[in-house]
Parts: sequence; structure tokens; C-alpha cells
Amino acid sequence: MTTTTTTPESTGPAGRVSSLAGASAFPGAVESNPSPDGRRILLATPRGYCAGVDRAVDAVEKALELYGAPVYVRKEIVHNKFVVETLSERGAVFVSETDEVPEGARVVFSAHGVSPAVHAQAAARNLATIDATCPLVTKVHKEAVRFANDDFDILLIGHDGHEEVEGTQGEAPEHIQVVNGPHEVDQVQVRDPEKVIWLSQTTLSVDETMQTVKLLRERFPHLQDPPSDDICYATQNRQVAVKKLAPEADVVIVVGSANSSNSVRLVEVALEAGAGASYRVDKADEIDPAWLDGATTVGLTSGASVPEILVRDVIDRLKGLGFTGVEEVRTATEDIMFSLPKNLRADLKRAGEQPDRPHRARRGATAAPRA
Ligand code: SF4
Repeated sequence: MTTTTTTPESTGPAGRVSSLAGASAFPGAVESNPSPDGRRILLATPRGYCAGVDRAVDAVEKALELYGAPVYVRKEIVHNKFVVETLSERGAVFVSETDEVPEGARVVFSAHGVSPAVHAQAAARNLATIDATCPLVTKVHKEAVRFANDDFDILLIGHDGHEEVEGTQGEAPEHIQVVNGPHEVDQVQVRDPEKVIWLSQTTLSVDETMQTVKLLRERFPHLQDPPSDDICYATQNRQVAVKKLAPEADVVIVVGSANSSNSVRLVEVALEAGAGASYRVDKADEIDPAWLDGATTVGLTSGASVPEILVRDVIDRLKGLGFTGVEEVRTATEDIMFSLPKNLRADLKRAGEQPDRPHRARRGATAAPRA
């Protein structure tokens, strides 16, 4: 099947830097011209920006427009090199810790969330804060506080040192211990085996997390489950899509940065689901043509913090290497959008700006549907 729709420019909503737009800003189909030898790309949908990342990037852009540069951002607003570099060029100043922000200045907290201690440090320095913590991370923080108040031991499945884990653990450090994976289950010690609950980082591999939970439950049969899934819809949807295309793919390319947990998980999931090989790249020029020697089908996806323009660049590069047919493998349609942080909305409103974000169904770009 041939699709001849022209790829549109990334326009995005008013005021948005086009290069930072997500897949929904590219509503047209990706041009597809099947190659004579059948080389093709299977393009995963959903891929790229989730609602939390879209909101966080938008918050920094709106803050720059409204207050002017510099706007300080604690840690990377989302784990993507290109996003951070682009926002830096526009006047965002990324810092590691709150004490690097000048007294009284404005700071944005990243999508990964922060602990109460960081909020307290910001208050002590009279910082004006914009909290871009993803609401789905905030939900896990609230669960942690609630179960800590009920005196549970909380087993937080996640990666030590990841900002999200640090933020969640900081809600109740005396009740939470981090379990990095199945290999750490034997080391877990709890006060009362009848009062134990597991929670998790939002961006983990679903399968590996369930394996950790299974082993934990063998040790603690009364282990409680979280009130609702902590691994978020976007992480799950991207893993389901890559699982579907991986068995047909000689190679799966994941666009995403090395410190992006969900992007790294997509490589692992692709390999576990049967991909011949899988590689993560930040951008198109990192693709080594040798990876594609003898390949007919390349699977392509991107992590939840990746702007669509980087995926389009990879498609162009793959086309240049002979993979000209593009077929979409869609496993879900996403239609989730989060409002901007409350105080930013209020300031936008006072300035006569539109505080509500245009609703954009997060359908992602399309390609030739599969027969
Ligand atoms: S990956 Fe999930 S939890 Fe993380 S920012 Fe996106 S929607 Fe929120």
C-alpha cells in the first residue's frame, strides 16, 4: 500500500516552539513508498510525548514567554537532551539543586517530582515555584504519604538515584525502601510482614515489575497492591506497541536519551519480545548503517520525553538507507491532557493570556495502515 500524504510542518499550538512539539502536532500520514525489495519501517503508535511531558515542556515555554528569561529549572525538565538544549537556548537555566537558584528567582520543578524537603528549601530561599510534577507522579506521592501514615512498610520498586524515586522516597523516608528489581528481593527486611505494600516508579518495565512483585509476595504473602497502577498509561502503552511490532522486526530503534528510564525500558522490552536487535539513539545521525545490514524490517518507537521531530529525522534517515515503506502499528489511542500548574495558569489569566491549553487528542502521527 502506498500513502502519498505530505508530511506537514510541525506547527504546534500558538507560541509553541515547533521543534518541541509532540506527535499530535503532525496529524498527517508519514509518506510511504514501499521499496522494491520490501524494506520497511514499522512505526509504533503510541510513541513519544506523554501528557506529563507535554505539560512540563509547555510550562517552561509559557513561563519564558510570560516572565522572560531566565527561568530556572531544577534538574532536566524531562529526560531528553534535545528538549533541554532547545529550552536552554531560549533562556531556561537548568540547575542541579535549589540552592543554585538566586534568592527570590523563579524555578520550575521537573515532571519527575520533588520531595517535601526540596519544596522547603525553595520556600527558605523565597523562590517562586512552578511545580511541573506529572499528576501521575503526584498520585504515587499521595499513596506513599497515606500508607506511611497508616504505618506500612512501603517497598518502592524503582531505580535508586532516579529523580522520581528520590522525590517519592522523600515523602516518607522512614517508611520507604527502594527495591531495584528481582535481584534485591532477598535483601528486603520489614517490621511487620502483615503491613507491607509495594508502590513503583511510573516508568518501569511492566513485566519485570510484576516479576519483582511475585518474588516479594513469595516472601510476604500479605503484601498489598497499590490502589491503582503506578506504572503510568503512557509507559504501558508504549511497551505494548513495541511488543506488538518487535517479533516482526530485525532491528528496533528507540529514540530517547540514555537517562530516560522509559526509553531504556523500550529497548529491553523490544528484545524480550523477539526483536533481532534493538538500539537507542538520541538522534538520527547516531544510527550506524551496519546495524541494518541484512535487515528487511525496522521497528521504530520513541520514549515519552521525545519530540516528534526527532522521530521524523530518523524516518528520513532510514528512508535514505532504503527503508522507504512505512506502516503504522497502533495499539492504543491516547487522549489525555493535563492542565498547566495552577499558579502559572493564574498568572497567565491575569496577564490576559489563555490559561487553558488547546485540547489535542494525542493520536500521534499516522502512517500507512497495515493490511
Ligand atoms: S511517563 Fe507517565 S508518569 Fe512520567 S511524565 Fe509521562 S505520563 Fe507522567
